[in-house]
Amino acid sequence: MQKIIDLRSDTLTVPDGGMLKAMMQASVGDDGRVLGTKGEDPTAIEAERCMAALFGKEDALFVPSGTMGNTICVQTHCRRGDRIAVASNMHIYRAEKVLFESEFGGMKAVVIPQKKGIYEKAVLKETLEQKRVDLVCLENSYNFEGGRVLDCQDMQEIVKLSHSFGVPVHVDGARIFNAALAVGTSVSELTKDADSVMFCVSKGLGAPVGSYIVGSAEFIHRAREIRKLAGGQLRQVGYLQAAGRYAVEHGLEQLLKDHRNAKLFAALLDGCAGFTLDKTSVQTNMVMIQLHEGNAREWIFNLEKEEGVRAHYINDHSVRFVMFRGVEEIDVREAAMRIWRHSELIDKHNKKL
Ligand SMILES: *Cc1c(COP(=O)(O)O)cnc(C)c1O
Repeated sequence: MQKIIDLRSDTLTVPDGGMLKAMMQASVGDDGRVLGTKGEDPTAIEAERCMAALFGKEDALFVPSGTMGNTICVQTHCRRGDRIAVASNMHIYRAEKVLFESEFGGMKAVVIPQKKGIYEKAVLKETLEQKRVDLVCLENSYNFEGGRVLDCQDMQEIVKLSHSFGVPVHVDGARIFNAALAVGTSVSELTKDADSVMFCVSKGLGAPVGSYIVGSAEFIHRAREIRKLAGGQLRQVGYLQAAGRYAVEHGLEQLLKDHRNAKLFAALLDGCAGFTLDKTSVQTNMVMIQLHEGNAREWIFNLEKEEGVRAHYINDHSVRFVMFRGVEEIDVREAAMRIWRHSELIDKHNKKL
């Protein structure tokens, strides 16, 4: 049996020894017993202070998942019936959905077209001029666009435009550290003036659980109330926050390595039959391909069955591969070789038909 090479998602990372040690050594308390603005868990208080500082915002709040973080942020900015600008393939709209279900969040989506991960600014401007919009969402890096990034200028333009209409901006920054490294800046520069940011420590940064939201002190204070209603207030959360803090303090080197591996993987797949790979989209730790024929679910199923390479379904013709800790250069080379073999077989078969 050949070794399975699993490239489905950077959520597959597990804590390393250093992180586990930091978790075990955390001093903890009941984070749900709130005095003033914080609970009684000293590790949680310190970690949230550290995250706020990293982003240059006033305060931060731990949330159990990215989905809950985005949901809480939108619900802190908005009320039922409010209108939220998104793109059709943003995670918050396509994968999370709950905000836009009438029986749950009750928000209305204002879908703005995007190209290569960036809103069509003229359409966004026109929409802001002509319609009521209560919140503009951004995603960076852009998951279903193969990890494409918005640079500081892209971000600033949209934030300024939205603010000029009095509309706040929420950034789904599940992989904002990947984005910042890709454009060579800090997360605080990249998210400057954004009203709220959600980011995950549970993905390429390697923590087992958790995400954070950051924003003004007043925003986080209200978000804490909503987190409680959502059942996201945890008790000795310092154990998890010790992991989160360790992740942002030690995880960045790995993200750079993941980016190099993604570029290598894309280069190795160049010229392979059966799919298109836009190399300009390979900016972070992901590689996305567009199949010329057939269905992506079937292609993924067969690739795993025949070649022991696991990939992630994006839509019926798009397949995503993700690099993360534990995927080494040798695995990248091996996976690319197996995909070549698989694709050539299919190609030969199709030509005979
Ligand atoms: C993973 C992800 C989320 C949600 O995070 P979970 O912790 O899985 O709920 C949100 N947005 C984007 C862009 C993501 O990739």
